[in-house]
Amino acid sequence: MAKTTRGKGLWKTPSRGRGICPLCLSTRVKLLYSATNSEGKLLKVCKKCNSVDAATADKAVPTEHLGYRRKHRKELNRQKAAR
Ligand SMILES: [Zn+2]
Repeated sequence: MAKTTRGKGLWKTPSRGRGICPLCLSTRVKLLYSATNSEGKLLKVCKKCNSVDAATADKAVPTEHLGYRRKHRKELNRQKAAR
């Protein structure tokens, strides 16, 4: 079986497969796992949030605009505090 979550294959994926998890807001984690929300929409989430139930997936926040940069950290912490 191909290694879809490891190694060189990740390098050509957007931001090398990493980002901020929309569910647990962990930064710089691999977003290679999926969760489905109640609308049937597939979300890219981290390993910890792999296959969470739809109710949890509905709490996802958009994190694409939050590059892991110092200027975005304030916004990230604000979202973390909001839950
Ligand atoms: Zn997560």
